[in-house]
Amino acid sequence: MAIFVYAENINGIYKKAAFEAVSYAKSIADKNGDTVTAISVNPTDSSDLLYKYGANQVLNIKDEGLKNFSAKAYAQAVNEVSNGTGGVIIFPHTTDASSIAPMLAIMKGFSLITNAIETPESISPFQVKRRAFSGKGMMHAKAEAAGVIVTVSQNAFGVKENAVAGAEEVKNLSVANEDTKVISHEQSSGKLDLKEAEIVVSAGRGMKGPENWGMIEDLANLLGAATACSKPVSDIGWRPHSEHVGQTGKAISPNLYIAVGISGAIQHLAGVNSSKTIVVINSDPEAPFFKSADYGVVGDAFQIIPELTQKIKALKG
Ligand SMILES: Cc1cc2nc3c(=O)[nH]c(=O)nc-3n(C[C@H](O)[C@H](O)[C@H](O)COP(=O)(O)OP(=O)(O)OC[C@H]3O[C@@H](n4cnc5c(N)ncnc54)[C@H](O)[C@@H]3O)c2cc1C
Repeated sequence: MAIFVYAENINGIYKKAAFEAVSYAKSIADKNGDTVTAISVNPTDSSDLLYKYGANQVLNIKDEGLKNFSAKAYAQAVNEVSNGTGGVIIFPHTTDASSIAPMLAIMKGFSLITNAIETPESISPFQVKRRAFSGKGMMHAKAEAAGVIVTVSQNAFGVKENAVAGAEEVKNLSVANEDTKVISHEQSSGKLDLKEAEIVVSAGRGMKGPENWGMIEDLANLLGAATACSKPVSDIGWRPHSEHVGQTGKAISPNLYIAVGISGAIQHLAGVNSSKTIVVINSDPEAPFFKSADYGVVGDAFQIIPELTQKIKALKG
């Protein structure tokens, strides 16, 4: 059976999520004696990076018309190169990839399972555990069509090296992409992509004002973390919208989420409660966030954050 995987790149550079999706596809292929075919649109990075995680073949789509992202046009391109009426197509659960996946499922008549968090329990029929209800629950989803498209929750499986001798094939396409018009493009202000970050330091209205974010950034820099914020903080303009996490912002699942001065409203939790470890720093011992925390510190962030930063600096020597 063919195992395809969509290897997402940003401005030609492969995302960590692409390596994780290839690693996931490889683990399925290995169990069934199959091979992995990665598909990417206009990458500039070398295909060697995908062979390293187990891609036996890389279909490198070259199409000038796909310079601007459009879920429909990208789905059409992936559809053109992934022929066949059955099989498995893996996508990372990134914003772009998870908007291509449903369109492709319609085009192919495949089942769609989003937010998978483990390798499949069975391949035929395809059944896998997935995150449901904004991370509040889990379910076992079973595909009913002959083919299945699966999006894999970021950081759930991890990036696993499994080098193979791969081969690349260039696919020159010219997919119509007339319905895309770029109005504005907001780039995250942090050095790290928030959705890919393993550690996130996030802050809320408890920080009192934008002038106090220096200590959040210092801590984040020290930990190699991305910065995030609650919705009101980006609504007031203290931080860019690209940092807003939650039900109406980005959904993230880092290994460590540090929440500073955030109350823990249900809409905020919806975007962060899949994080592996949650540390909450809040002056109010009754703050709802403590119920979802693995570690909680009750106290004033303005005292705790600089002290914590100093302690980590000392530990790092
Ligand atoms: C439809 C809808 C969608 C929404 N979507 C989102 C979303 O996607 N993301 C999101 O974040 N919110 C969302 N919200 C808003 C959400 O309900 C909360 O209002 C918001 O998360 C609160 O932000 P906050 O915790 O920063 O502020 P607050 O609720 O004001 O909490 C501030 C916290 O800081 C603490 N604090 C104060 N001073 C200090 C100090 N010196 N040291 C330590 N702690 C201190 C306080 O004890 C308090 O717990 C949504 C709301 C609606 C209705």
